[in-house]
Amino acid sequence: MSDKIDYLLEDIETITPSPEFVAASPVPTDLDERAKADRLGFWAEQARDLHWHTPFTQVLDWSDAPIAKWFDDGELNASYNCLDRHVLAGNGDRVAIHWEGEPGDTRTITYAELLGEVKRAANLYESLGVTAGDVVAIYMPMLPETIVAILAAARIGAVHSVIFGGFSADSIRQRVEDANAKLVVTTDGSFRRGKVLPLKDTVDAALDGGGASVEHVLVVQRAKNDVSITEGRDLWWHDEIAQVSDEHVAKAFPAEQPLFILYTSGTTGKPKGLLHTTGGYLTQASFTHRTLFDLQPETDVYWCTADVGWVTGHSYLVYGPLANGATQLMYEGAHDFPDLGRWFELIQKYGVTILYTAPTAIRSYMKTGRKIPEAYDLTSIRLLGSVGEPINPEAWEWYREVIGGNRVPVVDTWWQTETGAVMISAIPSQTSLKPGAAQKPVPGIVVSVVDEQGNRVDPGEMGLLTITEPWPAMARGIYGDRERYVETYWSQFPGRYFAGDGAGVDKDGDLWLLGRVDDVMNVSGHRLSTMEIESSLVDHPFVAEAAVVGATDETTGQAVVAFVVLKQSQADKIAATDPVSDLRSHVAKDIGSFARPREVHIVDELPKTRSGKIMRRLLRDVADGKAVGDTTTLTDSAVMSAISSGMAQGS
Ligand code: ATP
Ligand code: MG
Repeated sequence: MSDKIDYLLEDIETITPSPEFVAASPVPTDLDERAKADRLGFWAEQARDLHWHTPFTQVLDWSDAPIAKWFDDGELNASYNCLDRHVLAGNGDRVAIHWEGEPGDTRTITYAELLGEVKRAANLYESLGVTAGDVVAIYMPMLPETIVAILAAARIGAVHSVIFGGFSADSIRQRVEDANAKLVVTTDGSFRRGKVLPLKDTVDAALDGGGASVEHVLVVQRAKNDVSITEGRDLWWHDEIAQVSDEHVAKAFPAEQPLFILYTSGTTGKPKGLLHTTGGYLTQASFTHRTLFDLQPETDVYWCTADVGWVTGHSYLVYGPLANGATQLMYEGAHDFPDLGRWFELIQKYGVTILYTAPTAIRSYMKTGRKIPEAYDLTSIRLLGSVGEPINPEAWEWYREVIGGNRVPVVDTWWQTETGAVMISAIPSQTSLKPGAAQKPVPGIVVSVVDEQGNRVDPGEMGLLTITEPWPAMARGIYGDRERYVETYWSQFPGRYFAGDGAGVDKDGDLWLLGRVDDVMNVSGHRLSTMEIESSLVDHPFVAEAAVVGATDETTGQAVVAFVVLKQSQADKIAATDPVSDLRSHVAKDIGSFARPREVHIVDELPKTRSGKIMRRLLRDVADGKAVGDTTTLTDSAVMSAISSGMAQGS
């Protein structure tokens, strides 16, 4: 494999952090140096930033590889670390959560109040017979009680399994049964674009004829829709919580106590249930959160827009920010309700300083145009983060310019459900930024971009991203299926973790994510990354979003087929041209004639997972004229029917 990615060898203009940003940064400047000198010592030092009921003496035990043990003889409590210790340090009055409901109702919750709620919920769980090691399934929208339900499980050593609130009854049943959940916590309903989704009904359907391990369902009242209550099984949260004490002592649990099970987004196939444990996970989630977001807990208002049902919600909405004593915004509803200004209105209202979101959101605002964000005062923002997919340079620039006022750093953070916390990112006070690149392994993380034989690739070549040393937040396997874990991630390159993502290294040694390896195309012997062609398309002034797949082609083996969403703001200009032929030549000019798309399809929307990632495998099926594969994690099946029928009509 020696496919060149030309732009990795070009001079790339970097953006250096402003002197004011650097001067104000609390992040030590020698992290990388210390981590390189003594990696395990470095992680031990980060772990000691947490409160340990029993200090650890061992750092890493890799004898049962690839299942690691970190800080194994230490004991701690994740909930204590996120709550009690801040209150004991005198920060009980600090706001933990500014919560805004979709209809506009609000709540402000301090660390002391959140601790009180979590103590009650811990008592409630215990009164229902939930003990350490039991699994609590949480199927909820974005409510403060969702965080309470999570931390209460952690507090008593129970394992939470959060199921994204948009999943179907079948998906809930599978997850509940996979983990033998004993308790389910849900709400009556949730608000979504002004409508009420009946979550409790969906749980009822999931448990009807399945989920036999479930003893109780706790129902938080939110939307006040009618629900049916199964006597003996279902209990109203507010009734029960009023009857339990708000005194609860957090017990110590071993560092390797299971903390949660979480399923991947399912972009490439059936979701995998990853198991994460306590000490190492909390160490890396909190370290990366304060370092990569330059956290100043006394003054920042942090906002991660991810749903708590995804790993980003776990590490950067629950554990990272709360372990660091941050003040954060949590928003219940849709970004476009009642209109597309909602997020910007929230930034203005709460004075958000750090925003962490996904390229899919950024590109959707690129589609509707900068007029919407420009109508709000976004000057409170001092740092922007991106996660979930590769961010095209064009989207990175737009994000920085329009949302960040051309002033602030943007960090692109690469990681996965499996890695538990960020693995590759710039440090905003220290790294000269390159639009579109994730850039550097986090201090203490060691990666290598290799070819299929496992040899390190040269700069400018497309390779496979591997992680060569164990890290604290790494998954401790796929729940109940060690073999599948080993097979999926550790068999391609023995002793090394293979993430499934393609990457390249530029001439300065910085890392660029090039999309999933499964999506790499082979056109007349040229291997092409989806990212490369999609970025070229998004770079064209008409294009907001693009997805590229390799379709079977008799002459070239595979041919490039592109699906593009055009910018609404450019409609007049587009109408006066032939966008399809423009875009085909644009790519040919930009990358080379071998990359010229055989077809360009203009579509209204791209198929995405519920976490917002483009599902190229479905588009590949369409491009090949095959039946479309598994769509259980697709957000909106109407998108695929619209694309398929558009193709049939030769759009
Ligand atoms: P599945 O593994 O079930 O197919 P998934 O990989 O989408 O689902 P997640 O764990 O939520 O599930 O996503 C991790 C993946 O998201 C990464 O492997 C990578 O492909 C992509 N990703 C996340 N952040 C970035 C980023 N900053 N740059 C490029 N890709 C990213
Ligand atoms: Mg994955």
